[in-house]
Amino acid sequence: MLMGLMQHQPLLVSSILRHAARHHGAGEVVSRRDDATIERTTYAALERRARRLARALLALGVVPGERVGTLAMNSDRHLELYYAIMGIGAVCNTINPRLAQDDIAYIADHAEDGILFADPGFAAIVAAVAPKLASTLRHVVIMGDAASLPDIPLPAGIRLHDYETLLAAADEDYAWPNFDENAACGLCYTSGTTGRPKGVLFSHRATVLHAMVTAMGDATAMRATNRVLPVVPMFHVNAWGLPFAAPMAGAALVLPGRHLDPDSLIALLNGERVTNAAGVPTVWLGVLAKLRERGGRLATLQRVMSGGSAFPRSLMAEYARLGVTVSHAWGMTETSPIVTWNSPKPSTLALDSEARLDEQARQGRVVFGVDVRAENETGEAPWDGRTQGNFVVRGHWVASGYYRMPETAIGDDDWFPTGDVGVITPEGFVTLTDRTKDLIKSGGEWISSIAIENIAVAHPDVAEAAAIAIPDPKWGERPLLIVVPRQGRTPEPEAIRAFYHDKVPRWSVPDRVVVVESLPHGATGKILKTELRRIYAR
Ligand code: AMP
Repeated sequence: MLMGLMQHQPLLVSSILRHAARHHGAGEVVSRRDDATIERTTYAALERRARRLARALLALGVVPGERVGTLAMNSDRHLELYYAIMGIGAVCNTINPRLAQDDIAYIADHAEDGILFADPGFAAIVAAVAPKLASTLRHVVIMGDAASLPDIPLPAGIRLHDYETLLAAADEDYAWPNFDENAACGLCYTSGTTGRPKGVLFSHRATVLHAMVTAMGDATAMRATNRVLPVVPMFHVNAWGLPFAAPMAGAALVLPGRHLDPDSLIALLNGERVTNAAGVPTVWLGVLAKLRERGGRLATLQRVMSGGSAFPRSLMAEYARLGVTVSHAWGMTETSPIVTWNSPKPSTLALDSEARLDEQARQGRVVFGVDVRAENETGEAPWDGRTQGNFVVRGHWVASGYYRMPETAIGDDDWFPTGDVGVITPEGFVTLTDRTKDLIKSGGEWISSIAIENIAVAHPDVAEAAAIAIPDPKWGERPLLIVVPRQGRTPEPEAIRAFYHDKVPRWSVPDRVVVVESLPHGATGKILKTELRRIYAR
């Protein structure tokens, strides 16, 4: 083998911020504080503060490989914390503050976080979980200034600090070190609906490669002139990698803090001239409902990246009328998360507008660096758009096992089972039918709950919908549809059922339609079908 004569530098997360500071130093990072005021900084200033923070972490005794927990919304502070923790070779354990306190304590304990950083708004959570973490937790840092430091009781041996005082005491003279690119940089626990959360341990190499590929033209198409608003939280798979992809391209980041209601989001999208945004469908449903209710428009928004659950086709058309393209992306915490992204192919351009919308509603096609197969009893299912299989994935940013669960380890060439089911079209577009456990099997036929829900929300009276399987003595299971009305509307169950006529085979039409005020959502915005099944499938 003749080796290439090229320099070798490890793919480290710190190189992204260093690049942004040097080549996009004036690139903006905009944050909305708890009191709704707007704070502005630049990549150059943020990198300097990240260096100070790196020194502060070292002064607190953080060593490479150590886990540092964060309980925080999207903000400049959380961003500089990401880079400081990862930059010194420690591991940023983002914890979802919406989880039950018992799960939060479990995660921080399982990760053995030595330090916990928390937004002032989450001080009460810290006070509640700290007693359970007394064996490993040494410091709690509240992410504000001295004035925002709440008086929270902590067990002896755990010291309380405020973020700005720590930072002010540290020197900014720090050079980001080089180390093995396979070192861990982030740890995010999946909030499965059953069992304890499981830790996905990202590496620097995987994170940098994922950012490079997701910045490509047929994915986020990240440009220095973009202004990007991740509604998806930084505690949910690193906000889908946007805190890395945006500075890599020099794009501005607009971080909404805890102001995630539709009115606040619309104001921020327009006020900060946001061009690209990302979040789960529930967020975009809420924004659309608000615009329907009181009019108004999204003046600068061009593209929405949607993932986490299926974005209904009918709402994609409505967003298109507002001048916004909604792109499905599919993946999971275990895949960093992007596996597929929906962008047109040459063959797409030949389709009429309805067929194009059908294609846009699919979960997308595989980006370079990862791969997917749909597997059934006979092996890989053909790419015919009809034959269903269980999706398995592998690639540079796919987990090879869960943290501290050696029994889950898989080899580098092995396929990781996603738990999702679907089909692949001849053009390679992946369509998700369901989570394996959410599929409805009626009289031997599979019914896709996603397909049933997509039709329901196309009805003018329906804002949100969930289809679940109900045990049935004759058919095994039958679909039940639960709907939330649109503002000022009263859905009629029989009219909703009639709406399915000509859209799906007769046996797929829900037997019963239940109207409710709201649906239960989990900590990452997904509808909690386990909860619905507990209530209705008895
Ligand atoms: P999480 O690990 O919390 O990000 O959840 C990952 C799961 O969300 C996947 O396994 C899918 O079931 C679901 N999901 C992600 N993206 C999509 C999408 N674009 N459409 C439908 N479901 C999705």
